[in-house]
Amino acid sequence: MKRLEDLQFDNRFARLGDAFSTGVLPDPIADPRLVVASPAALALLDLDPAESQRPLFTELFSGHQLWATGEPRAMVYSGHQFGVYNPRLGDGRGLLLGEVLNDAGEHWDLHLKGAGETPYSRMGDGRAVLRSAIREFLASEALHALGIPTSRALCVTGSSTPVYRERQETAAMLLRLAPSHVRFGHFEYFYYTRQHEQLETLAGFVLDQHFPACREQPQPVAAMFREVVERTAAMIARWQAYGFCHGVMNTDNMSILGITFDYGPYAFLDAFDAQYVCNHSDDAGRYSFSNQVPIAHWNLAALAQALTPLVELDALRESLALFLPLYQAEYLDLMRRRLGFAGAEDGDEAHLQRLLQLMQGSGVDYSLFFRRLGEQPPAEALARLRDDFVDLAGFDAWGAEHLARSQRDPGPADTRRARMHAVNPRYVLRNYLAQQAIAAAEQGDYDDVRHLHQVLSRPFDEQPGEERYAEPPPDWGRHLEISCSS
Ligand code: AMP
Ligand code: MG
Repeated sequence: MKRLEDLQFDNRFARLGDAFSTGVLPDPIADPRLVVASPAALALLDLDPAESQRPLFTELFSGHQLWATGEPRAMVYSGHQFGVYNPRLGDGRGLLLGEVLNDAGEHWDLHLKGAGETPYSRMGDGRAVLRSAIREFLASEALHALGIPTSRALCVTGSSTPVYRERQETAAMLLRLAPSHVRFGHFEYFYYTRQHEQLETLAGFVLDQHFPACREQPQPVAAMFREVVERTAAMIARWQAYGFCHGVMNTDNMSILGITFDYGPYAFLDAFDAQYVCNHSDDAGRYSFSNQVPIAHWNLAALAQALTPLVELDALRESLALFLPLYQAEYLDLMRRRLGFAGAEDGDEAHLQRLLQLMQGSGVDYSLFFRRLGEQPPAEALARLRDDFVDLAGFDAWGAEHLARSQRDPGPADTRRARMHAVNPRYVLRNYLAQQAIAAAEQGDYDDVRHLHQVLSRPFDEQPGEERYAEPPPDWGRHLEISCSS
């Protein structure tokens, strides 16, 4: 177990030089305080969990102290926002503090979000508000616990520094961890500015650091793109299976590692609604829940375009064509398990689609449905769930089909419950839960944020005494509009 002073830095991205990032020092926030820290994320850096209690911890992650061997840099990138190309984005309010090399030989980017203005701030103030830092912290650690690939979060620090959004709020910083902060938009930046030499350097860097096996292939960059397609398909399958709506799938928010990245006005579905739009400025519904699948494909095509100077078109097209079938297979596999089936049958996809159609518009809670389906033997569970549906005849027909399908399944009945509970969370990060915790934190009380984080770190376990975190939203929490200002 290490102390903060013992962290070893190896700043590989910084060494790429000024064409890729700009040196910027963090601008500290006033009266810093620790809001919440993730012991599991501390462990990724081999840090003793007690380190988060030291004043130095809060100072380091609020911009007041720096490691002598860190090299804070703002990265340059561009990207397609809501389908429109924006030629210059970049880290407008976040800094890559450096890359920590842990004892397992892994590199972890330390990215401090809300660290002040940079050359890429455009009209922004370089800050993040407490509410958005808490939302990203909770989501990063909750998605990880659900088995959804994601960036991680080490901590949030709060302050008395005023920040102006729709109202006056206070500034906060989030320390994000990821093996890489390279986005699709990094490649787009060098492609559209015709810096093809740098594009090649970037591709080589990402290959060496993150896709070393692709180096062995006859066309390494083509092989890397194929793997990005595979990883993205696997990630989106998990979003769709668990009802996670990202809300801002711009290409600058897509990680080259295929991990969930840059949390904004995200949501987990409460009542199932395929057309749900969680970002209240997304008027056209471009990033609605069901659109996440075609949009991920679209974003991969944007990345493919940026790689055309390096890879044959045919190879890119071939890999792109894999996206939908890969997604479908991963999604169906996970949903089969959520429904309690150990094996696969041809009719499973249609069976699942019929269920989602019955759920649509009926107000049935998406997460609780699956959890409850596993709580009792199929016949009893179906009888209990039936009352929530509007189309009772439709549900009865589905239920009969489900019962017959369950009886044909080879898995022993007594392990069904454990098997289902292992993929059907009892606790999900519902917006109303985040909202309650944020309201308390804005009053200076961080207990609920910390507690919610702990509960969500074991989403599949029964946690006696925590039932209130497993409830569907009360009326006030059903139609929360989450501002995209952050
Ligand atoms: P986001 O919506 O957080 O993914 O950010 C999109 C782009 O806007 C990125 O280039 C951010 O760095 C930049 N940005 C967002 N908020 C701010 C802010 N308050 N100050 C400066 N830049 C920002
Ligand atoms: Mg972003």
